[in-house]
Amino acid sequence: MYRPFRIGMTGGIGSGKSTVGECFRSLGVEVLDADQITRELTAPEQLVLDEIRSIFGNEAINSRGELSRTFLRSRIFTNNDQRKRLEALLHPRVYERLGEYSDKLDAAYVVWIVPLLLETRSADRVDRVLVIDCPEELQVQRAAARDQQSGADIREIMNRQLTREARLKQADDVILNDGELKSIRGKVQDLHHKYLSLAENRNKTETRDN
Ligand code: ADP
Repeated sequence: MYRPFRIGMTGGIGSGKSTVGECFRSLGVEVLDADQITRELTAPEQLVLDEIRSIFGNEAINSRGELSRTFLRSRIFTNNDQRKRLEALLHPRVYERLGEYSDKLDAAYVVWIVPLLLETRSADRVDRVLVIDCPEELQVQRAAARDQQSGADIREIMNRQLTREARLKQADDVILNDGELKSIRGKVQDLHHKYLSLAENRNKTETRDN
């Protein structure tokens, strides 16, 4: 059995990653979400919480033993050094777990939703990079409405992410999500067929090489 072909889906805040992920799921495709895995890794009693406490102090964990995400978010916004230490702690573990979960699946391919795939220079951890692209104005509108945050707050998050151009340069595939929701479905269908055939070809090549 071959390990599933790995598609790394990425894109800026509000570009439509979760929405596109749901379209893949509706086709029966396995979709793993890095944010969800981060939540698992930082759930109460996980060992990583002790390390987070040693970086950020006791305030990082509330009285119920849960990670205080609001506190952490405000700290990493203002303290670059702490942000880097947190990333160095979490990112390798997130990728490790994505790999473990994927390799257990009996599937031709798996989609990983990784918002910071390219910011963490991790394109080589996947077989293909799928970028969800969207004009910045729409990103701001959609994310602000979803998260009930101001446009300025969303722009601040965007300033910490790659630009559209930098992301697109590293894309193997792109879904431009600038229209109606229903137009995404057709684009996902097309990619689904493409990924099934890429996975099949990869398996054939590996069989020949072995
Ligand atoms: P991301 O996961 O990249 O942050 P989401 O998939 O959550 O983005 O999309 C952001 C918001 O925009 C969500 O509320 C979603 O329902 C909405 N949205 C996404 N794509 C479209 C679209 N094509 N038309 C209208 N709303 C959209």
